[in-house]
Amino acid sequence: MNKEIQSLIERQEAVSAEWRNKLKGVIQKEFSFTTSLGNKLHYTLQCNTERIRSTMAKTGSVAAPVKCRICAENRPDDQLFIEWRAQKSGNEFDILINPFPIFPAHLTVVSKGHRPQTINASDMQEFAMYSRMAVFFNGADCGASIPGHMHYQAAPVECFNIVEDAKGLEIDPFTFKSGWIIGIGRKVIKLATSHTSDAQKELDEILQKLGRTDDRMLNVMVYYDEQQALFYWYIFPRQRFRPDCFFAENEEERRLISPATAEMCGVIVTPDIKTFENTTLPEILEIILES
Ligand SMILES: [Zn+2]
Repeated sequence: MNKEIQSLIERQEAVSAEWRNKLKGVIQKEFSFTTSLGNKLHYTLQCNTERIRSTMAKTGSVAAPVKCRICAENRPDDQLFIEWRAQKSGNEFDILINPFPIFPAHLTVVSKGHRPQTINASDMQEFAMYSRMAVFFNGADCGASIPGHMHYQAAPVECFNIVEDAKGLEIDPFTFKSGWIIGIGRKVIKLATSHTSDAQKELDEILQKLGRTDDRMLNVMVYYDEQQALFYWYIFPRQRFRPDCFFAENEEERRLISPATAEMCGVIVTPDIKTFENTTLPEILEIILES
């Protein structure tokens, strides 16, 4: 990541103990296996109870008016930010440290104005270049926690298992610059763009060919590969948000997993210790394949 972001993280952690060691209660399991095609794939299962505590705190305060918690005026007083402006679009953002991280460096990139969640591929590409991190987008109906207020997230590229897993895998061409990754156990399109590409045009072409009229059921991640001077995109056209097992009445069968971009990229997060203990690799593969 770049020095400005590194400095933001250090300054935020210096503010109070509350901002340090946010991941200290988090536990993880790693799953690796080889597919019938000989591809080595990896999934991380993370138990992050902080996520459920925060959710319960909010829904519990019945009398409190519903406020957008990422609008500048509603953020905690001690939450620092740096301002960033996308050159091509002119869109302005505040870069924040995610208060409920799942990655060791986890940013929320929040639009200056309160406007609905919708993707801008050139903004994402520029932010990937500026930050040298992986930037990701959750569509309004598949993982965006605050769909009313436009935001991206960012984390170190090496946090995303799919980047290594997809290397060397065959591609089934879809559009001129994109194709489906074969043998990776999920529906994902890989797109490569350069500095001179019109990334939004490439994405629009993919959406059109998919028959999608909006980005509400879309998960997207992009990072910049310095050696090749290319941006690599992972585009997940989602079919459904939550799996059936999320709603299981029997607690032993229930899996509190809501796949969004992180999950589609190989990092499965649950706030529930029972889900963490009970979920098997075949179940993870089924959840991801059917998402
Ligand atoms: Zn807002």
